[in-house]
Amino acid sequence: NYQQKSVSKRPLSQFVIQDKESKLFKAKTALQKALEQEDFLLYYQPQVNLETVGVSKMEALIRWNHPQLGLIPPNKFVPLAEQTQLICALGEWILKTACSQNIAWQNLGLPAVTVSVNISPYQLQDPNFVKVVKQILKDTQMNPQWLELEVTEEAIFTNPEIAHQTLLELKQLNINLCLDDFGSGSSCLNHLVKFPFDTVKVAQSCVKKLNKDKEQFTVISTALTLAKGLNIRAVAEGVETQQQLNILKNLDCQEMQGYIFSEPLTPEEASRFLFSHFNT
Ligand code: C2E
Ligand code: MG
Ligand code: MG
Ligand code: MG
Repeated sequence: NYQQKSVSKRPLSQFVIQDKESKLFKAKTALQKALEQEDFLLYYQPQVNLETVGVSKMEALIRWNHPQLGLIPPNKFVPLAEQTQLICALGEWILKTACSQNIAWQNLGLPAVTVSVNISPYQLQDPNFVKVVKQILKDTQMNPQWLELEVTEEAIFTNPEIAHQTLLELKQLNINLCLDDFGSGSSCLNHLVKFPFDTVKVAQSCVKKLNKDKEQFTVISTALTLAKGLNIRAVAEGVETQQQLNILKNLDCQEMQGYIFSEPLTPEEASRFLFSHFNT
C-alpha cells in the first residue's frame, strides 16, 4: 500500500547534493595541507634582452605539485587561495623560495639576474605586505635590486590609493616594479604615468593579435611609445613566432619572453639555461 511504498530503503546520503560551501571547505583544507607540506614548485621562465643578447630576468611561476593529481597550473588554484585567504601565506612561500633561488644562482657563480615574482591583488592590499617583503629580503639576504614584483591592473582597480601607497613603499626599498598583462583587459595608460613602474609587460593576448589586428597594433605601438617617453622598460610576453618577434623588434620592444625562447623551466633546467647563456 501507499504507506509502505513511501518508505525509502536507499541511504539518505545519496540525496545530499554537496553544496558549494562544503566543496570550498574541502578545497581549502587540501590547499592548507599542501602549504604545510610545501607541495609547490616554482618554475622559472627566462626573459630575454635582444639588445644585449642575454637573459635579463627569470619569472617565477608556481605549480601545485599534488601527490595524486600531479602538477596543477596556477590558474586552477591561485583563485582558490585568494578566495580562502590562503594567498598571503602562499605568497610568502613563493617570495621566499624565489629569493632563495636567486641567491643560489649567485652562489653557483652566475652573474646576477633579476627574479620576477607575481603578486596577487590581495597581497598588495594586505596591510602587512611591505613588512613581510622586508623580512624576507632580510632572511634570504636578497639584494632588492635583483627582485621584481609583477602586479596586474586588477590590483590597482581594487583600491588605487592603497595600491599607490604600497607600490611607493616597495619602490623606496629599491625593488623593481612591473605592470603585468598590460592591454589584456580595460587597460589605462594613466596607470603608467601615475604609478612607479619600472617595467610594463605587454599581454600575451595583445601579442597574439599583433599580426592580425591593425587596431591592436596601434594600441601596442602607442603604449610602447608612451612607456619609452616615461622611461619605462617594455617587455612582450607570450612571444611564440618569428613574425611576432619581428613586429615587436620593429616597434623597438627589445625585451621578450615566450615559448620561442623557452617555456617555464624547473630550477635545475633554469640553472642550466643561465649557464649556457652566460658562458657563450
Ligand atoms: P602571467 O604572470 O602573465 O604569466 C605568463 C603565463 O603565460 C604563464 O602561465 C606562462 O607559462 C605562460 N606563457 C609564457 N610564455 C608563453 C607563450 O609563449 N605561449 C603561451 N601560450 N603561454 C606562455 P602560468 O605559469 O600557467 O601562469 C598563469 C598565471 O598565473 C600568471 O600569468 C599569473 O597571473 C599567475 N601566477 C603564476 N605564478 C604565480 C605566483 O607565483 N603568484 C601569483 N599570485 N600568481 C601567479
Ligand atoms: Mg607575470
Ligand atoms: Mg603576464
Ligand atoms: Mg596573467
